[in-house]
Amino acid sequence: MDIWKRDDEAKWLPCPVCHQPKMLKYNSETVLKSFPAYCKKCRRERIINFDARIIK
Ligand SMILES: [Zn+2]
Repeated sequence: MDIWKRDDEAKWLPCPVCHQPKMLKYNSETVLKSFPAYCKKCRRERIINFDARIIK
């Protein structure tokens, strides 16, 4: 049974404030709605609406 998705589709969303490139990990099927994404570098939390299926 294939319960593990292939990890080679993992990507990173950059921080929109400080452009730190690894704020949030996602893959090609990730959908976030009003998700509080926290950046470790600038220590800010931002609400994200994100749908990886429409970003290609
Ligand atoms: Zn940041």
